[in-house]
Amino acid sequence: MAVNENLRTPIVSVMGHVDHGKTTLLDRIRGSAVADGEAGAITQHIGATEVPIENIVNKCGDPSLKDKFIVPGLLFIDTPGHHAFTSLRSRGGALADLAIVIVDINEGFMPQTIESLHILKRFKTPFVVVANKIDRIHGWEANKNLPFLATYNKQSERVRSDLDNKLYEVIGELYNIGFNSERYDRVNDFQRNIGVIPISAATGEGIADVLMILLGLAQRFLEGNLHYDAKAPGIGTVLEVKEEKGLGTTLDIILYDGIIKKGDTIVVGSLGDPIQTKIRALLKPRPLSEIKAEEKFQRVSEVTAAVGVKISAPNLDGALAGAPVRVASPDTIDAITEEIKSEIEDVQIDTDTI
Ligand code: GDP
Repeated sequence: MAVNENLRTPIVSVMGHVDHGKTTLLDRIRGSAVADGEAGAITQHIGATEVPIENIVNKCGDPSLKDKFIVPGLLFIDTPGHHAFTSLRSRGGALADLAIVIVDINEGFMPQTIESLHILKRFKTPFVVVANKIDRIHGWEANKNLPFLATYNKQSERVRSDLDNKLYEVIGELYNIGFNSERYDRVNDFQRNIGVIPISAATGEGIADVLMILLGLAQRFLEGNLHYDAKAPGIGTVLEVKEEKGLGTTLDIILYDGIIKKGDTIVVGSLGDPIQTKIRALLKPRPLSEIKAEEKFQRVSEVTAAVGVKISAPNLDGALAGAPVRVASPDTIDAITEEIKSEIEDVQIDTDTI
């Protein structure tokens, strides 16, 4: 088996309560992928980071694993935590193909942890739970970047039993919400049991395990959903609506199917009638090597899924984070506009809070 060219990169979102470590985990995944260097360069997208399969298997110390996987890598999105986004996506459709729910092992579940789990349950999105900040367990001896079991086996018996107890609390809380779970290395069937991975985003302990388990989930449960047509009209989700100097209002989107080109007509969900506009520019982050360039973005003429990209176009005021964005042609624009309108109307109940 080898990477299947017809499959797009699975999109992974990191969810969880504020301060439990989402940003640190994403930085760690990014940082370690950068540090791994040569194999396959990681690509910084707008609102997302792509980690190629080579980096992931190298990190796990067994490059031959690459032949076992058919997905090209993983695309981690910086899922906005704000209410408008969550509220729209929790009704409009799955946030991502896969998810990581992060929980501070020392604090346990909080309202946003529970909200995330309910959303994933509704959409049957495969996910793992990471129990973060194990380095804060009293007496923990950090072993930078080691896989979980390797560092766990080096700890004193008291520290290990402390961790086990905290982990059982997490497993108990998951049970209360309707999920059977186990420490990830004891899970035989990831369809029946959620894997819980103890990690430290700060020291990198357990990160390799997270990446491997995500790849395993992608492989087992997503193949049917990842086929895409690189020539079909693009379909995506708005991550953020942002003012940019010199560009006005722009959209940061995740494109999960098809292709999107400069000059394409797009339809975007808004609180009123959907916005119909024409793409003036498609923007990606500049490579780090060109950081001194005048503009922080580079212009590209087209992108294909899965990708994070910024769209500059007229009339984007009023676009909604979490709303759909789709490429339209003269033949399809009316039908697409109607579809997007009814999707947004379905969630109007909650728009007071948007
Ligand atoms: P977010 O709000 O979920 O994005 O959380 P952050 O990533 O910003 O983390 C919140 C705080 O917890 C920051 O001060 C981090 O440095 C700290 N933190 C995150 N992960 C760890 C960890 O694994 N160990 C320790 N000791 N601190 C952590």
